[in-house]
Amino acid sequence: MHPKVILDQYGLSPKQSLGQNFLHDEGLLARIAAAAEIAPEDEVLEVGPGLGALTRQLCRLARRVVAVELDGRLLPALEGQLAGCANVELVHADVLSLDPTDWFARPYAVVANVPYYITGAILRHLLESHPRPRRLVLTVQREVADRLTARPPQMSLLAVSVQYYGRVRLVSAIKAGAFWPRPDVDSAVVRIDVDEARLGEGDAAGERAFFRVVRAGFSEKRKQLKNNLRQLGLDDEAIAAALAAAGIDGRRRAETLGVGEWERLIGELSVGN
Ligand code: SAM
Repeated sequence: MHPKVILDQYGLSPKQSLGQNFLHDEGLLARIAAAAEIAPEDEVLEVGPGLGALTRQLCRLARRVVAVELDGRLLPALEGQLAGCANVELVHADVLSLDPTDWFARPYAVVANVPYYITGAILRHLLESHPRPRRLVLTVQREVADRLTARPPQMSLLAVSVQYYGRVRLVSAIKAGAFWPRPDVDSAVVRIDVDEARLGEGDAAGERAFFRVVRAGFSEKRKQLKNNLRQLGLDDEAIAAALAAAGIDGRRRAETLGVGEWERLIGELSVGN
């Protein structure tokens, strides 16, 4: 059923402030769900089920779906749309305050047509929590998809922050007309496969040090790396020595470094977290 028809039945209209642009092409929804390669024993987190169009696809594939929706107005409609899905747990909450430990005991998959206004915050929140998602398939703004999949010399703090955890790739582009209401921007589906080595609790202190250095590196866009790294409270000599030992020219800018180079550099710097 078209989302407008469902909302009309409940006397509702979409809330732009919550990023409510609904997908309604069943074929497209099935392709998004298929991109997550969900196995029958998998558990899935869906952020923002909306009217349940994607949730219905996911409930056929996964053992369990936890669907977290912030807009309480949608819940009666959503419950109606999910009547045949016994393995879906609807949670009325802000995903950014959700503690995955309360819902998952082991790595899970995330599939979502995310509210665009908080894409970066959702990625940070889920990738920094435990257990970590093993895989994320997200519909995002096309421009954000390009930033997530960027390579040097076009890296950003967002690209490094996500590529630190795993491999990011573009699954497909989606035209604005696939959504109702139609957004002003084009969209794309991206898939993030978290590295096996990052799935455990791992080295929390090393992770904090990594992000401290990367944030310093990106702090002033036009400045060379060796100047931005002064923010870490290190003297120029220590910075120059670490850069030389890592084989990185200090005149480069942060956006030219890949994750491997940041890791090499951090290995040479003595920074707390
Ligand atoms: N999954 C549906 C679809 O594909 O048609 C709806 C996607 S719509 C782009 C985003 C959904 O996220 C909306 O239902 C919105 O209410 C919900 N949402 C917005 N902010 C949220 C938050 N902080 N936590 C959980 N859900 C949120």
